[in-house]
Amino acid sequence: MKKKIVIIGGGFGGLNAAKALKGLEAEISLIDQTNHHLFQPLLYQVATAALSPGDIAFPIRAILKKQKNVKVILGEVTSINRNDKKVFLKDDYYEYDYLVIAIGSRHSYFGNSEWEKNAPGLKTISDALRIREKILLSFEKAERYAERQSVDKYLTFVIVGGGPTGVEIAGAIAEISKKTMLKNFRKIDTTKTKILLVEATNRILSSYDNDLSEKAKSELEKLGVTVLTNTMVKQINEESVLVDDDLIATSNIIWAAGNEVSKILKDLATEIDKAGRVVVNEFCSLKEDDSVFVIGDSANCKYKDVSLPGIAPVAMQQGKYIGKLIEQKIKGEKNLKPFIYFDKGSMATIGRAKAILQVGKFKLSGFLAWLAWSLVHIFFLITFRNKYKVMSEWIWYYISLRHGIRLITNRTNI
Ligand SMILES: Cc1cc2nc3c(=O)[nH]c(=O)nc-3n(C[C@H](O)[C@H](O)[C@H](O)COP(=O)(O)OP(=O)(O)OC[C@H]3O[C@@H](n4cnc5c(N)ncnc54)[C@H](O)[C@@H]3O)c2cc1C
Repeated sequence: MKKKIVIIGGGFGGLNAAKALKGLEAEISLIDQTNHHLFQPLLYQVATAALSPGDIAFPIRAILKKQKNVKVILGEVTSINRNDKKVFLKDDYYEYDYLVIAIGSRHSYFGNSEWEKNAPGLKTISDALRIREKILLSFEKAERYAERQSVDKYLTFVIVGGGPTGVEIAGAIAEISKKTMLKNFRKIDTTKTKILLVEATNRILSSYDNDLSEKAKSELEKLGVTVLTNTMVKQINEESVLVDDDLIATSNIIWAAGNEVSKILKDLATEIDKAGRVVVNEFCSLKEDDSVFVIGDSANCKYKDVSLPGIAPVAMQQGKYIGKLIEQKIKGEKNLKPFIYFDKGSMATIGRAKAILQVGKFKLSGFLAWLAWSLVHIFFLITFRNKYKVMSEWIWYYISLRHGIRLITNRTNI
């Protein structure tokens, strides 16, 4: 009888696991709560009206259409029973011989979940569209009320969290609010636009070397971003944020400060770290169950005694590795090799044509780093259409400084 493999999540980890199982005589079910694979690294460009959702999201079913051994299921996994080897959705279940869990993470508000409604985080297309509408609506309000009242709160943007996502959003908002978009408005005074990036530790981009994080800070400042380090957000309301002891009036707060993983991982009854990630062994499986694998952002996987970061290359490499490992197990091969991580480095972009890049001891910043960033991101987009589309949008923006996707589609209530 064919072995049953269930993969939960069609993100970077799950999709690569499914692809690595190509050609295997097995019954593979890939379950995802959305119908698309999302290229999260470019999500901030959807949130800041530079790209359309379709440029960075692709139907999982279409990606795997030629892979006959995979069945794609749209549905949310609500629980897992390891004893019965079953994965439950709302109204049915799937049995497995091997289970791959690659469900990524959501943002964490560190126990203040009520902040989410006023300070959305950025993980999904819906999050990005919500942020985009919030930003665009705020400019519309500033334009409409500028002659009658102070509009500072509509022109103040507070981004919480100085990691790559926070830095990228802050840079992009600075560009659109100070350079790109305001040419289209008559009343808004660009000198009044404030962008604050709030970071609790002593520097932004703390996973990079100090000199690169200093460079990123100075580039952000040139774009007009105020970077506040060693600063804590203490309260968030609809129209203000308390930053240390300063109450800042703003209706634009974006959360980019922390991650947590789905509660369904608790069903696995295994070791979970403080961020809710499953602690896996060197084969990316549970210590007590070698038929259950957890990869990507949901896993705490140590390599050379260091926990691997929550970035796309980790999830992709683990996905490929797990696919091969399951194949070897099904074929009864012995001497299985543990996971080896190849560090390809990290990069983050700052505004239109600046970035930082670090690969081991090699470091680069400025325009060349941004070129490398652009090429890598284009390369990893899934289809030729998307690669072409994103590249042409970037070239157009680079030349014209104009973003095209500035639509507010929900009812505005103003
Ligand atoms: C805004 C942003 C910017 C980023 N920038 C970079 C970057 O520049 N470089 C980089 O390397 N990394 C970046 N990352 C991180 C990178 O995207 C993640 O590390 C990577 O996506 C993790 O892959 P994954 O497979 O673990 O999870 P994901 O890619 O998040 O996929 C998880 C999948 O599981 C599905 N899912 C979740 N729960 C369930 C459930 N209960 N039932 C069914 N399906 C479920 C989701 O719908 C999703 O499709 C960024 C992340 C974000 C959010």
